[in-house]
Amino acid sequence: MHAGELTRALKVEAERLGFDLVGIAPATPPPHAERLAEWLAAGYAGEMAWLARNAARRIDPRQAVPGARSVIVCGVHYRAAEPDPALWNDPARGRISRYAWGDDYHDILLPKLRALQAWLEGRLGRAQIGRSYVDTGPVLERPLGALAGLGFQGKNTLLIHPRQGSWFFLGEILVDVELHYDAPQPIGGCGGCTRCLRACPTQAFAGPYVLDARRCISYLTIELKGPIPRELRPLLGNHIYGCDVCQEVCPWNQRWGRFSAWPEFRPDPERVAPRLLDLIRLDDEQFRARFRGSPIKRTKRRGLLRNVAVALGNWGDPLAVPALTTALNDHEPLIRGHAAWALGRIGGAAARRALETRYAGETDGWVRDEIALALAEA
Ligand code: SF4
Ligand code: SF4
Repeated sequence: MHAGELTRALKVEAERLGFDLVGIAPATPPPHAERLAEWLAAGYAGEMAWLARNAARRIDPRQAVPGARSVIVCGVHYRAAEPDPALWNDPARGRISRYAWGDDYHDILLPKLRALQAWLEGRLGRAQIGRSYVDTGPVLERPLGALAGLGFQGKNTLLIHPRQGSWFFLGEILVDVELHYDAPQPIGGCGGCTRCLRACPTQAFAGPYVLDARRCISYLTIELKGPIPRELRPLLGNHIYGCDVCQEVCPWNQRWGRFSAWPEFRPDPERVAPRLLDLIRLDDEQFRARFRGSPIKRTKRRGLLRNVAVALGNWGDPLAVPALTTALNDHEPLIRGHAAWALGRIGGAAARRALETRYAGETDGWVRDEIALALAEA
């Protein structure tokens, strides 16, 4: 079958499977791919050392999948209607990034991508023509998306479609088949705008198009496994899982941001603006039950409760002292240390008593340091 005809049929099938966007690029290093090495060398990846381990494979899709000739990039909208702003802005509730309001997109998108790959294999009459990836593959998703015509990379580093905004997931299929390629989007769609750079709560942009992940709330609340740096904790506000600020302020989203038609990404009300005091009390089993099928399970209980403790400290209400006192005695040192910080922020006699009692019996060196600093503050 002619490449153009096959490509047209493939796009019809992608649409039938529910994909909102589909574009196709040659399997070559996307423009500016070498910036990954510069970004890694600057240390902006923080603890995401796995990005450095296979940087060469990431830059060139042919190294990720030998023999690859084309990259099929698919997008799915995930934006859902925002909650009542009164809930959203309540510091007693946690903010969760929109992409995590519904089911885990890895579990939803990968079978769809594999179905599209299987359709293509059926048309070609041969198997194993390539590999499908969602998020975790050794590929530069956004630059490849730009090369496949799905949008331009904004100064916030996200892929922005000029008629559909940036609230979409990406998935890729690398195949050894020649297809008809889409025209890349021209760069520079941001013009003179700098809204995202100015609105970032932690000033995480080292400059336009350059994110210092070590300061980004998405990294700090999801990727980072250890303690959140003390100086950044007050800047997190009530963000407990990811952050959408640099997408919310983007004029392309305000004008064009589409809502998702996928039922899997309909918000679970428990995940949109949950009460912090409910979350800090979750034990292991309750955490697993509440976040089964959700991307939030990725942080594990200790990561989420670490974030919740920081948000409770930022709320600053003495109502949180009893629950934080329980958290100060948790079996996880990471939770104990952040609960100590929060109690120090809230202060008062009850918080101080709890800190002094725990300090007397604490054996973990890092937690003892956190308690000592919290006592100094309280
Ligand atoms: Fe800043 Fe939030 Fe965007 Fe990260 S996700 S760069 S913290 S605005
Ligand atoms: Fe570009 Fe402005 Fe959107 Fe940032 S907010 S990505 S600068 S258009």
